[in-house]
Amino acid sequence: MEELRTRLLRPLERELADGARDRVVAGGLEKLVQNLARPFPEVQRTLSGYRGMDLQTRLERLKKAIALLGGQAKVPSEPCPSATPPLGPDLDAPLGVLELGPGGRKKLAELGLRSLRDLLHYYPRRYEDRRTLGSIRDAEDGSKATVVGKVLSRELVKTPKKGMQLVQVRFMDAWGWKFTGVWFNQPWVLKQVPEGASLVLTGRVQRRGGAISMVVEYFEDEGGESLSTGRIVPVYGAKEGVGQAFLRRLVWRALQAFPHLPDPLEAYVKDQGLPSLDFALRQAHFPDTEEKLEQALYRLKFDEYLLLELKVMITSGGSALLGRMFKVTPGMLERFRATLPFQLTRAQERVLGEILSDMQSERQMARLVQGDVGSGKTVLAAAALYIAAENGAQGALMAPTEILAKQHFENLTRYLYPLGVRVDLLVGSLSQGEKKTVLERLRTGQTQVVVGTHALIQDGVEFHDLGLAVIDEEHRFGVLQRRRLLGQRPDVLVMSATPIPRSLALTMYGDLEVSQIDELPPGRIPVRTKLLTQKTRLQAYAFARQEIQKGHQVFVVTPMIEEGASEATLELAAATRLREELESLLPEARIDLLHGRMKPEEKDAVMERFRRGEFDLLVSTTVIEVGVDIPRATLMVIENAERFGLAQLHQLRGRVGRGGLEAYCILIAGETSKRTLERLRVIEGSNDGFYIAEQDLRLRGPGELRGLRQSGMPDLRLGDLASDQEIIERSRALAQAILETDPYLDKPEHALLKRELQARAEAVGFREVI
Ligand code: ADP
Ligand code: MG
Repeated sequence: MEELRTRLLRPLERELADGARDRVVAGGLEKLVQNLARPFPEVQRTLSGYRGMDLQTRLERLKKAIALLGGQAKVPSEPCPSATPPLGPDLDAPLGVLELGPGGRKKLAELGLRSLRDLLHYYPRRYEDRRTLGSIRDAEDGSKATVVGKVLSRELVKTPKKGMQLVQVRFMDAWGWKFTGVWFNQPWVLKQVPEGASLVLTGRVQRRGGAISMVVEYFEDEGGESLSTGRIVPVYGAKEGVGQAFLRRLVWRALQAFPHLPDPLEAYVKDQGLPSLDFALRQAHFPDTEEKLEQALYRLKFDEYLLLELKVMITSGGSALLGRMFKVTPGMLERFRATLPFQLTRAQERVLGEILSDMQSERQMARLVQGDVGSGKTVLAAAALYIAAENGAQGALMAPTEILAKQHFENLTRYLYPLGVRVDLLVGSLSQGEKKTVLERLRTGQTQVVVGTHALIQDGVEFHDLGLAVIDEEHRFGVLQRRRLLGQRPDVLVMSATPIPRSLALTMYGDLEVSQIDELPPGRIPVRTKLLTQKTRLQAYAFARQEIQKGHQVFVVTPMIEEGASEATLELAAATRLREELESLLPEARIDLLHGRMKPEEKDAVMERFRRGEFDLLVSTTVIEVGVDIPRATLMVIENAERFGLAQLHQLRGRVGRGGLEAYCILIAGETSKRTLERLRVIEGSNDGFYIAEQDLRLRGPGELRGLRQSGMPDLRLGDLASDQEIIERSRALAQAILETDPYLDKPEHALLKRELQARAEAVGFREVI
C-alpha cells in the first residue's frame, strides 16, 4: 500500500509542478489514476474527469489528491512554468502557417488534419511510379497516360452546337510524336500553355485513325518542383474537393519548413539500425527509390507500434507494478514433477520457466499463456499454484462456466492433492451451507487453492492472502470482472486456447507478456479432417452412424447466426430442423440438442449427460463449452463451416479426440466459392492452431477474427498485424527498455518521444486489459 501510495504521489506532484497541463503522464493523468489509485477511491473520485477541468479546478483537485495521499503540495512558483525543453521547429503549429485559405483549412480539417504533425503523418495510400514517362504513341485508346509534351501551337475553339469552349494545343512528345491536348470549358488554360513550354500532362487518350488526342485532367510545368511526375508519386486518401496535387504541394511545403525533422528516437536509431525520422518522413511522401521507401515505411511502422506499446504500458502502469516475490526452490519443482505421470514437453518447460521467472521477480506477473486445446496449459497452472501454496499464499483459478470449473477442480485435485495442497471449489450451485464453509476456509486461509466461476468475484468472497490468480479462457471475462479479482494485485496468469497470432496478442494485450505452448504432448493423434460440399453432405452422417455403432459419440455443430432475439429464434429453428433431419437419418441414435437460448444450468446439464454417455449425438449451435472433455467423442461434423472463423473451426475440432481414440472432423461447405474452399482447406491441411490463426488473419483481416470483433482492434495506419511480427517484437522490446529506465518518460532525452506520444496517443488505438 505504502509503495503504491508513493508511486501515485510522484506523478501527481510532477503534474502540479508542471502547472496541471496534463502533459506529465503520456496518455493522460486520469488513465494512470484509474489504474494506480484503485485502492484509493477518494483520490480517484477527486481526479475523475481531470482532462475536462479548467486549470484552476485541476490545481485545486491535484492539491486535494496529494493531501489525501499524505504528500506535500508544492505550488508552482509561476503559474505555468515550462517543464518541456524547447523543441525546435513546432510540429504542432496549425496548418495555417502554410498560408492556406480558410476553405483549404476546412477541407483539411475534414481529413482530420490540423497541425503540421498531422499532415506529415498523413501517409500516402499508395504510390504511382511516374519516373520514366513513355511516348504518347504507346498509350492505348481510352487509357489514362502521363506524358511530357512541348507546346507547338494552341487555339481556343468554340463548338458551334453546344457553345462549348475548347482549348486545343498541339504537342510533341520527347520521341517526336505529335498529339492534341484538349481542355473543355477552361479558356483560362490558354494563358498557362505558352508556345515552347514543356508540360507534364495526365489524361485520357483517344485514337482516331492516325490522330492522337488527350483530354487533359491535369498538367504541370515540367520545370520547377515537379511533385506529380518524373518521380514515384504519392497518392493520398483525399476527399472531394481536396486534390492530389494540392496535398502533394502542401506536404512538400511542410517538409520544406523543417530543415531537419526532430527525431524522438534520436538516442536509439543507431543501435536499432533504423533510419532517422527525417529520412523516413521525406521518403515516405516523396520516395527516391523503392528501397528507400521500404526503409522509410519500416521506420514509420516501428514508431506506430512503439507508441502503441508505450501507451498501453504506461497507462496500465503495467511494467511498474510491484507484485509478490515468490521463492522457487529446486526441491519444489522436483516434488511437483515427481507426481506427474509424464514428462513436460519442451514447449511446456519453456513456458514454465517464463512463468516461474515472473513469479520470482518483484514485478507483478501479467502473463498470457496460449496453447491449443490439450497442449497442457492446466499442468502449468497447477505448477504455478503449487509454488504459490508452498510460499504460503493462496491461489485461485477462475473458469468461465461451472462445468469447466468442475473439470479444472478435478484436474487440479489430481495434481495437487498428492502434494498436500488443499483445493476447494466455489460455484453458484453449491448449497448455502457448502458455500459458507468454503468462504470461511478462504477467509482463514485454510483453502490454499480455490477453483471457481464468477462466484469467486462476488461480494462476500474474501481471501486470506491471494497471491496468484489463474484465469482460464480470458476472453469471456470483462475487464471489470478481472479487476475485482485483481484488487489484491496477485500475480496473474491468463490461459487461452484461442490461438491468436503472436503479433495480434502483443498488440491487443500490450501489457501482458505472451507465452505460447506451440507443441502438443507426444502420442497425440491429430484429428483427421475432411471437407465435403452440399452434394456429398450425407456421407458425413453415414460415417457418424459407423462411429456411433462403435460406441463413440458425435458432435454436429450448426452456426449461430448472430446475437439478437430474432436471430436466436432462427438459429434455434435451424438447429431443431437439423435435429429432426438427423433423427430420421439415424433412427437408432440417441440425439439431443444444445442451443444458445438455454440457461447456463441447462447447458451444463446437457453437457454432463453427454459426458456420461447418456446419448450418442449432440446437435449444437456454437455454444459447446470450450475445454469440456468428452473422452468418447470421436467425430465433429460442422455444417455451413464457411460461417465460422478458421480459428474457431480449429477450436471446435479440438472437442474431439481427447480420449486417445482416433478422431475425425468433417467440414460441410454451404457454398463453394473459391475463397471459401481456400479458407476451409487451411483447416483440412493443418492441425497447427497458430498457423491456422495466422492464415485466418491473412484471409479475413483482423477485425473479423471472431470473438475479437468488438474489442477494439488497434487502429493502425501502416501496420499490418498479419505480417509485422518482427517489427512488433522489436518495438515492444525497445518500449520496455525505455520505460525500465524512465517509467514516465521524464528524462530530457525522452521529451520529444513523450510529446509525440501525447500528440498521437489518440491515433494509436489499443485495447485496455486489466
Ligand atoms: P489444456 O489445458 O491446454 O487443454 P491440459 O493441461 O488439460 O491441456 O492437458 C490435456 C491432457 O494432456 C491432460 O490429460 C494432461 O494430463 C495431458 N498432458 C499434459 N501435458 C502432457 C505431457 N507433457 N505429456 C503427456 N500428456 C500430457
Ligand atoms: Mg484446458
